[in-house]
Amino acid sequence: MDNQAPYPWQQQSWELLQQYVHRGRLPHGLLFNGPAECGKKHFAQSFAEAVLCTANRSEDAARQHGKACGKCHSCLLLAAGNHPDLVILAPPEDKKTIPVDAVREFIQDATLTPQIASSRVCVIVPADAMTSEAANSLLKTLEEPAANNHMILVTEHVRHLPATIRSRCQIINLPLPTQEQSLQWLQQQQQRPQQQQWQELLNCAAGAPLRALSFEKSDIMQRRQQLFNSFAALINGQQAPLSAVAVWNEEVSEVLLKWLYEWTLDLLRGRQTGVENMRDLLPVRVLSDLIPRLDAGKLIALIEQLISLNRGMGERNLNRQMQLEALAVSFTGLVVVQK
Ligand SMILES: [Zn+2]
Repeated sequence: MDNQAPYPWQQQSWELLQQYVHRGRLPHGLLFNGPAECGKKHFAQSFAEAVLCTANRSEDAARQHGKACGKCHSCLLLAAGNHPDLVILAPPEDKKTIPVDAVREFIQDATLTPQIASSRVCVIVPADAMTSEAANSLLKTLEEPAANNHMILVTEHVRHLPATIRSRCQIINLPLPTQEQSLQWLQQQQQRPQQQQWQELLNCAAGAPLRALSFEKSDIMQRRQQLFNSFAALINGQQAPLSAVAVWNEEVSEVLLKWLYEWTLDLLRGRQTGVENMRDLLPVRVLSDLIPRLDAGKLIALIEQLISLNRGMGERNLNRQMQLEALAVSFTGLVVVQK
């Protein structure tokens, strides 16, 4: 893939930035906002490279559609990961937050004059990881930026940033692709899984193609299938609650509860609106005969149980084993026996 280009679904946001660049009116503070795994970091990197590329200023620039050339001195330094005019701030490896000291150091670095390129690009990712003290220390730099200096804040939680930061930045929204765009892109990355399998991976990845691609390389789909088998066997009455829990215990709570929740919700969807409206192919294939006989009231109670369990799992003193056993028992009485 062309490393310097944004993803196809980011083209509109890219064009918007190019218009700013061509008019010489690129804002000093940019805020790239979009959902998890929509390719924000890639977009920020491609854009930083385009700004720093020295060939991008020449007549060839139009032919490159504003992308970095990948060949000039600046681009080679970027590829090697040591361009002096690109400064990136992220949380320290063992931490989730960006402390105020790190931001102060970053600001010193960010206010130097460009060394090789004609501008300097400073990226904070994820920007919502800054502590409020750290975010405050950034305000002055955003307000009175050094000449030829561009600050890019990357976030998926724009509301977690102080309003004072947001108001000093131009927000560029980066959306998730549509399902068609995702499937087309995934198929271009790898031919091997068929359209149907990509569709399942994409469902499992909540519509994020980059995550679907990483799922394809991991064993997550096998694990999901295994969990589903125990879920279906429990509802069918072919597996005892305790042996289902033994399988569930192999998975971390967050993932396990998310899948159980989605399948249960999908069963309710099928029960109330018809099997053809279900989103997940697994329950459709295995449980479709049973779906009209499921107790809708019990399904709703289970969904509520899963939601509260998901909240509670974060609390330390909750006994996971006991909670899962109680949950598994609730799944056994779903099918209404016909008289
Ligand atoms: Zn270049």
